Amino acid sequence: MILPIVYYGDPILRTKGKTIPKITREIVQLAKDMIETMHDANGVGLAAQQVGRALQIAVIDVRASDQPSQMLVGAQEVPVESRMPMVLINPSISSPSGEETGVEGCLSFPDITGPISRVSSIQLQATDLNDMPVRFLATGLLSRAIQHELDHLNGVLFIDRMDPAEVRLLQPAIDKLEKTTTSRSRRGK
Ligand code: ZN
Repeated sequence: MILPIVYYGDPILRTKGKTIPKITREIVQLAKDMIETMHDANGVGLAAQQVGRALQIAVIDVRASDQPSQMLVGAQEVPVESRMPMVLINPSISSPSGEETGVEGCLSFPDITGPISRVSSIQLQATDLNDMPVRFLATGLLSRAIQHELDHLNGVLFIDRMDPAEVRLLQPAIDKLEKTTTSRSRRGK
């Protein structure tokens, strides 16, 4: 089922996600719905907050973009497409290395994009829907998408990481979006 995407101005986007203690049928269904919603919106990632749930779960599928990604499991390079779409439960990042600037967008900020500086490579730890550990090193778009989604899970948004001068340029569009979102929620959608 395609879920409605939450836009900037909704307080859920500023809420840290709760740890998921157990993979229930409800969590499996949520993951399925999030993947469907991400694919429908042509996104490369989606966090639970973006569908109105403050939980530590995100989905990723970098196949929607032609930007390169690399995944290493141990010392072994794994074809990224073979692991997509990917469900990350209770994810965390370690061993950040390097720095890279790239243009990002966000499904919760339609038509708003800007350059964001992030670390280039990360080590990811998470659990999948079978309650199995997921561990790999990511670079390129995969690394960027994971960092963006993990920020969402902590209530952090890409505009927080943008250069203040860039945010000033986008401010009218951001304010407009926030106004539309809050007036819509006052009317009860
Ligand atoms: Zn986003």
